[in-house]
Amino acid sequence: MKNNIKAKKRFGQNFLKDSSVLTRIIQSMPHNNNHIVEIGPGLGDLTQNLVKYKDTTAYEVDTDLISILKSKFAIELQSERFKLIHTDVLEAWDKNGSLYDGKYDLIANLPYYIATNIILRAFEDVNCENIIVMIQKEVALKFSATAGDKEYSSLGVITELISKESEILFDVPPESFDPPPKVMSSILYVSKDTNVALDKDFNKFLKVCFSQPRKKLSKNLSSIVNKEFLSNIYNELNLKETLRPHEVSASLYSQLYTKVINGKQRS
Ligand code: SAM
Repeated sequence: MKNNIKAKKRFGQNFLKDSSVLTRIIQSMPHNNNHIVEIGPGLGDLTQNLVKYKDTTAYEVDTDLISILKSKFAIELQSERFKLIHTDVLEAWDKNGSLYDGKYDLIANLPYYIATNIILRAFEDVNCENIIVMIQKEVALKFSATAGDKEYSSLGVITELISKESEILFDVPPESFDPPPKVMSSILYVSKDTNVALDKDFNKFLKVCFSQPRKKLSKNLSSIVNKEFLSNIYNELNLKETLRPHEVSASLYSQLYTKVINGKQRS
């Protein structure tokens, strides 16, 4: 293991050792004046590259790594180019609502066990404008999928609605890490549309829509909406009764949600 540190599975520790991947991540950074937030700086290899370009705030949960990072970045910490926060990042979001008090871009090699959750929280965080994260390839495909794709789910719908642009930038094989993860990884890029704020309950609505992916959407929705009301909505939106969840575009899901919510509020 790098630096004689034994990687902890429970914290999803797979340290990036391939410097060409680090370079490509840095080259993908948006050209703006935003602050950088990194989640899980680990041994600081990505961090070292980030602080060269911009002021950076990093959140790390592992006490053993905090002491390594403090000595590695002593100068940057003192000059306040770098701020290191020792906490579980999800708790920080619960407590403060945002990871930084100003516009920021999230750039990180995420711990895979909470990667989906982290990205959804970053979508909700109004100060976060761009996201460049390494995650499991299978999960990246879900975030970047659109209607008709095999991987299309609530994650693809939310990403399409919340973003100006989203794509998988490149894949990273297990050998680029120490220890190597069991799966292929990808870098996901999302540039958020800062004019869009999704309703808090929209995600719950989508979970219902995709609850049985192979069944008809109307069947899934029948658990929260009565049949007659749903049939009226389908008529208004000109939808076929036989539609399956993966055939409905993100904007149609948004319209469906508005009609369901408005109808519920009236009844
Ligand atoms: N950035 C480093 C790199 O690229 O080599 C390490 C990436 S490693 C995949 C994930 C990092 O996230 C680890 O440093 C781990 O300790 C940290 N981590 C795991 N769970 C966390 C949490 N809940 N909050 C903050 N950091 C976390």
